[in-house]
Amino acid sequence: MHLYGTQAINEQGHLTIGGIDSVDLAKVYGTPLFVYDIQLFRDRAKAFQKTFEDEAIRYQVAYASKAFSSIAIYQVAAEENLSLDVVSGGELYTAVKAGFPKEKVHFHGNNKSETELRMAFEEQIGCIVVDNFYEIELLKKISEELEQSMNILLRVTPGVEAHTHDYITTGQEDSKFGFDLKNGQADEAFKRAYGHSFLKLMGLHCHIGSQIFDTTGFQLAAEKLVEKMSEWEKDFGYRCPVLNLGGGFGIRYTDEDTPLEPAVYVRDMIRTVKKVSAAADFPLPEIWIEPGRSLIGDAGTTLYTVGSMKEVPGLRKYAAVDGGMSDNIRPALYGAKYTSLIANKANAEATELYTIAGKLCESGDKLIDEAKLPAVEAGDILSMFCTGAYGYSMASNYNRIGRPAVVFVENGEHQLVVRRETNEDLITHDMSYTKEVKDR
Ligand SMILES: *Cc1c(COP(=O)(O)O)cnc(C)c1O
Repeated sequence: MHLYGTQAINEQGHLTIGGIDSVDLAKVYGTPLFVYDIQLFRDRAKAFQKTFEDEAIRYQVAYASKAFSSIAIYQVAAEENLSLDVVSGGELYTAVKAGFPKEKVHFHGNNKSETELRMAFEEQIGCIVVDNFYEIELLKKISEELEQSMNILLRVTPGVEAHTHDYITTGQEDSKFGFDLKNGQADEAFKRAYGHSFLKLMGLHCHIGSQIFDTTGFQLAAEKLVEKMSEWEKDFGYRCPVLNLGGGFGIRYTDEDTPLEPAVYVRDMIRTVKKVSAAADFPLPEIWIEPGRSLIGDAGTTLYTVGSMKEVPGLRKYAAVDGGMSDNIRPALYGAKYTSLIANKANAEATELYTIAGKLCESGDKLIDEAKLPAVEAGDILSMFCTGAYGYSMASNYNRIGRPAVVFVENGEHQLVVRRETNEDLITHDMSYTKEVKDR
């Protein structure tokens, strides 16, 4: 069994997180419940920042907040001096409401609307990561109309695709995101953007994948991007000061996953950027990265209450919990794997195999295929680990189930940061359909 961050087991044999008994949390707040170990989030943020600090490299570590977006986590991110990636007007609005420093907000997305882009100007955010030619033209129009400047990065697809345990390099990438580096699109984007009186071209951005467990892909991408920036300096006399290498650093969902320490990812990136910059006689750029999952993923644990059970003789035992694909769609969507523990029997020997089913009306609504657990009974609290990223943020109201509550724990204290949706919440946007009945 693997515990994360501040997790431990107390004298009653209960799982604790942040010094708090998880069984008590389930009693106080109900289940399903997302519990975030805020110390772990802070430690991870510092771990990514430290290597840059130690090597005196100019940098930004931006929390890719689509992984989990809420006012409270944006406040913690601000306390940890993180920058913030947002991908919609809604995330930007949340950042503004959280009082997040706007100059450190970066706006991503392959189809930002004009309304969203205008909002970015109004809030005077730090930069927009431009994805396509349509967006360049929109930004020119808006910035000229407002006579207001905006920092931009160009998102490029470097032809490096990182997969969990390997990477492939492709000539041309079949991706909906960004300008292709090889076929001339990126050069064309540069020509259209640089020198504009209001758009300030800061540099290049790429994001090569997710759940990446080695540094080769990042190194290859860094090489290609620095070479391109150096080529543009030689050809056009314009130097981009920023290199953004994206996120995708892997985390340990199960023991099949073998993540590197944040320091190792950062160290290898810095080495490559230094080497390639020196070779190209290009001044060392600022390095930006965008961890999402690796900041927040293993900081999150979901607590569920076990209800009904079913045995299919000779095949399997099902234990159903009070949530499922409505609070965590990743198993159904990508076959994502997780580990779990019975929080109120944390020391009991795991002797049985269960399939953990959700309560939603889909036969694919399973959270864990084979969970090794002690004998499970109705009323047990099942803790599912590593659910902090893309769990709550992808939650839905399917079957009109309210989204769970979210609680932060830290140093023996707990605090509700997103309240559970009630039945009343579920109908707040509904309107009646009434027709005047004429000539009956
Ligand atoms: C999703 C995303 C990230 C974060 O990815 P993780 O795998 O969660 O680290 C970073 N940058 C961009 C542009 C993204 O779309």
